[in-house]
Amino acid sequence: MDYYLHDDPRLPLAWAPWFSHEYITYFSVQSIDELMALPPVAVKPNPDFNNEKWPTGPKHIDLYKESYREYRNLSPLWSFAYNERNGEYSIDPPEHKTIEPWKILVIYSTEPDLHPDHDLYLHKNQKITGGSHGWRHMQFRALGRKFGIATESVRLNIDLARMAFRNSNDYWGWRYLSRATHYLADLGNPFHVHAVPSWFLIRNLFASKRLFQTVSAAHQGYEIYAERRFRVGFPAFKQALLQGAREAQADHLVMDDEISSYRHQAKKRLKPIFNFMLDQFGQELIDVFGQLDKNSHLDAAAQTNMCSKDAAKIIFRDPDLPALDFLDRITTEILFDVGRMLGILLQRFSPNKN
Ligand SMILES: [Zn+2]
Repeated sequence: MDYYLHDDPRLPLAWAPWFSHEYITYFSVQSIDELMALPPVAVKPNPDFNNEKWPTGPKHIDLYKESYREYRNLSPLWSFAYNERNGEYSIDPPEHKTIEPWKILVIYSTEPDLHPDHDLYLHKNQKITGGSHGWRHMQFRALGRKFGIATESVRLNIDLARMAFRNSNDYWGWRYLSRATHYLADLGNPFHVHAVPSWFLIRNLFASKRLFQTVSAAHQGYEIYAERRFRVGFPAFKQALLQGAREAQADHLVMDDEISSYRHQAKKRLKPIFNFMLDQFGQELIDVFGQLDKNSHLDAAAQTNMCSKDAAKIIFRDPDLPALDFLDRITTEILFDVGRMLGILLQRFSPNKN
């Protein structure tokens, strides 16, 4: 396997630019031969299981990327919004179209960060995670309480996938499974399982604006760093994901046995990354996120987009910065664990298993 996703000739340019979740799922599924070999399935409408336990955000629309029109060629290094791609996609399920399951897994893995989890009332404490979106994508303990339900998000989407397969809607089976890979990868991200180191929380408990700005800077800065590495084709990240996913298959691991230690490992990695981001880029990076303004006429996504561009300029001012070695090493460890978990999940759905 010689590709890095963005250079894979089996995938049209209309689906680019690519994002971290897509790289993560791409490398993980590439390691499972049985899944890669599955024949295309017919595109079908959403079975809408009407799951009361899992309402969908009011702004969400299922787009069908199988039917696309390419109309631009965005710069991969300066694209930060998941919904801004080179193509336009159909809002109706295209008839007579088929697609390979591995491609479904890859191209819908960013979908949970669009709108399905936004603008919902899920819990009285959801403000801490930035609203219902964060609530479903994070899970951590702070001040003796549990915040977020990412583990449940994984399980529910696995259940929806199973239901779709049982109802002979394989297309949506893979698509729900793709969403499950997203939440499972989020659980391996230190910023999703341990929002802020306790030393920092205690010191800034009564300075909520500074707390918010600094946490955003460290979190977003780290995401931007990892995404850029993927997009330039970083061999260590690819190897880590492939090896992790292969190891999971060889060892016949079970997800329920592994998921809490997985989360725990990720949690332990927050403090060193958080401290590194502040030590290395400090006030300059935090100031970039000071631009966030609740009263702006721009929506939140557009604003973060502007911050991301400025943050990338700071983090990659010197792309060979030796200091980035630290982030490279710890992120490679993280991605090995993420690949391992995605390998466990995906192999359960490969044809020679149950
Ligand atoms: Zn997420």
